[in-house]
Amino acid sequence: MQRRNFLKMTGLVTSASVAAPQILFAQKPKKVLVLGAGLAGLTAAYKLKQSGIEAIILEAQNRIGGRVFTHTIDTENNLTVELGAEWVGESHTKLKNYCAEFGLKLLNHQFDTALILDGKYSPVNAWQLDKKWDETYQKILKDFLKLSPKQQKELDKIDWWRYLKKMGINDRDLEIMELQHSTDYGESIRFVSAYSALAEYSQSSPKDEMDYKIEGGNSQIVKAFTQKIGEENIKLGHWVSAIDQTGAQVRVTCKNGSTWEADKVICTLPVNALLDINFLPTLPDTKIEALESLIYARIIKTSILFKERFWGNEGMDILTDGVGQYYFHPTKNQPGTKGCLTSYAIGDKAYVISKMDNEHKISVLCETLEPAFGKVNHLAEKVVSYYWGEDKFSKGAYAVYMLNQSFELKKLIAKPFKNVFFAGEHVADWQGFMEGAIETGEAAVEAILS
Ligand SMILES: Cc1cc2nc3c(=O)[nH]c(=O)nc-3n(C[C@H](O)[C@H](O)[C@H](O)COP(=O)(O)OP(=O)(O)OC[C@H]3O[C@@H](n4cnc5c(N)ncnc54)[C@H](O)[C@@H]3O)c2cc1C
Repeated sequence: MQRRNFLKMTGLVTSASVAAPQILFAQKPKKVLVLGAGLAGLTAAYKLKQSGIEAIILEAQNRIGGRVFTHTIDTENNLTVELGAEWVGESHTKLKNYCAEFGLKLLNHQFDTALILDGKYSPVNAWQLDKKWDETYQKILKDFLKLSPKQQKELDKIDWWRYLKKMGINDRDLEIMELQHSTDYGESIRFVSAYSALAEYSQSSPKDEMDYKIEGGNSQIVKAFTQKIGEENIKLGHWVSAIDQTGAQVRVTCKNGSTWEADKVICTLPVNALLDINFLPTLPDTKIEALESLIYARIIKTSILFKERFWGNEGMDILTDGVGQYYFHPTKNQPGTKGCLTSYAIGDKAYVISKMDNEHKISVLCETLEPAFGKVNHLAEKVVSYYWGEDKFSKGAYAVYMLNQSFELKKLIAKPFKNVFFAGEHVADWQGFMEGAIETGEAAVEAILS
């Protein structure tokens, strides 16, 4: 069963299906304002244009793409790293279809995991979870799909860490799974519900949707959307501060003093940015409460450019109990002698790394790798990192639905408010993914047109 259908069955539906009945007889709008030029906003504007509707995107930053953010770390050899979204998943059909439509090539970006735990290095294939526990775990994943919606809802009341413990995992494997799964959520699995984890892992591709990357960097899809939409229709440096729905049209005001009017608005802003908008009339209390209860993950990605690829295996990643947490080779499939390793750290570890200067980052992140490769600091040439916990707009990498939040909360957050429709990864079935942003951008347009 597709994850999307599965989530639909369990009651999680996107804004479009929530909205449709209310606007069944609405006239096709002439003009729509789209707030935010991330993948949700770009998809929405593209779909609107295809439907013959004027769409203008208002974007606060002077950069298009939001949390899709490719950085060229080595201009000489054209080596790129991703500061935000990294992997395109095997199951991410919409994203893959757009790549095909725009002629973008997907490169294999799968890795085989080594382990550094308690100062001991275990190369790829030289470690595994306890065999008996692994069998139990596979059965848990299978059985989840057979549970009734009521039984699944019950699993939203217990956290993933406690649930695994209850199911008999040993301490070592629990530590490994915490390290592994917390990178997916961006916070400890003690904050994540068992329902949320099981809905994810029971239907993910074998590599947990860490399958591909777009050739030339994921920002290539942002470029392609921009070309289709027309750069002149994306207004950079337009930081939206107010949305007024008291007149016949929706009136949007930006901090630069400009005002814009349209029949409808599609708002793709992350929750922390959305809460700063002055709505007139104000958003319903229930919606504000829902928005205020959603937390965002703290993730820092730190990429170090090394003079040589001392790790040998191009498809190598390492899970560690060090502060750098999870390391992978982002320049896989990018030829050259030089290469990068990216550390992907979450929660408090991310915050701690964000406070270090570059020299300190190299020293600490290389030290963790010593059991595997010895001292490698001297090979480091450059470091670049981005801490999403302090991103001016999202204040986090992506939303984390915590205990008891998987069912009703998302519906409340996604519910349209008069002529404003909400989209963005935080309201998606594929929440936390580029696929989710795309899915909700399309859904918002469908809702407006239905
Ligand atoms: C570290 C990290 C790792 C990730 N890894 C993956 C991965 O491997 N695979 C994957 O599929 N996904 C991944 N994601 C998630 C993916 O990046 C997001 O789900 C997706 O890009 C979100 O798109 P969006 O359009 O919903 O939001 P955004 O991209 O955040 O777009 C919102 C836009 O709104 C703008 N904005 C904010 N406030 C205002 C305002 N007041 N006025 C005007 N504009 C405003 C912002 O500047 C931004 O451009 C990752 C994200 C991060 C941060």
